Amino acid sequence: MNAQPASTARMPAVFFGHGNPMNALLDNAWSRGWASLGRRLPRPRAVLSVSAHWYLPGTAVTAMPAPRTIHDFGGFPRELFAVQYPAPGDPQLAHRVRELLDPLDVRADLEWGLDHGTWSVLHHVFPEADVPVVQLSIDEAQPPAYHYELGRRLRPLRDEGVLLIGSGDVVHNLHAYAWGRHPAEPFDWALRFEAQARELMLKGDHRPLLDYESLGRDAQLSVPTPDHFLPLLYVLGASEPGEAVSFPVEGMDGGSISMLSVQFG
Ligand code: ZN
Repeated sequence: MNAQPASTARMPAVFFGHGNPMNALLDNAWSRGWASLGRRLPRPRAVLSVSAHWYLPGTAVTAMPAPRTIHDFGGFPRELFAVQYPAPGDPQLAHRVRELLDPLDVRADLEWGLDHGTWSVLHHVFPEADVPVVQLSIDEAQPPAYHYELGRRLRPLRDEGVLLIGSGDVVHNLHAYAWGRHPAEPFDWALRFEAQARELMLKGDHRPLLDYESLGRDAQLSVPTPDHFLPLLYVLGASEPGEAVSFPVEGMDGGSISMLSVQFG
């Protein structure tokens, strides 16, 4: 176990493009990028993760002391189902999240755990699984601005030693995804939308990203459903106006999945 003390500095807020669940096991540019980021980040007291894969009506926060590792996918090799990420939970952080989001009714959940949106990335970022992890669900019934606002209200956690992460994909079109092992050229619409998103984030102009459905055909193809895009809005909401933004991990997988990571602070 790593005995390194938690940092008291303001924590960054980071969005991870998690892509294919197999990245949990693979040694590739993305998994190495996540590991490298984990070594550079100040050590958090805990992680609050907003994963694309906990997308349901209502807002819930995991409040159990020992969240299970959820293998929420099918058709992958046995080794992937064998991965365990035994990070502890943090019921006190769950309580603090509910306090910050009050009067919103946030359900204290004792059944979910850590889904692959969270552990496939953290397995590389904090391989010792010794940083407590809490997940926040995404309310599928709410519009983008709602999720941005929740991120804003969670911003104080960054001064309390909590690393806020979103895990999804800026571009996520599984219909167009090349499921084979052959490398696929990125689609032009995927590259254009990702470039547009990067430019808006660099300018600190988040409003068009909240209104991504009005950004035209590139956006429609890149974000055919909101689930993998919305975690980004929590991270944008948790950023400070004018705060430096960087893209520590980049690339497009299978032509239509953006692996872009976005870091504030
Ligand atoms: Zn996913």
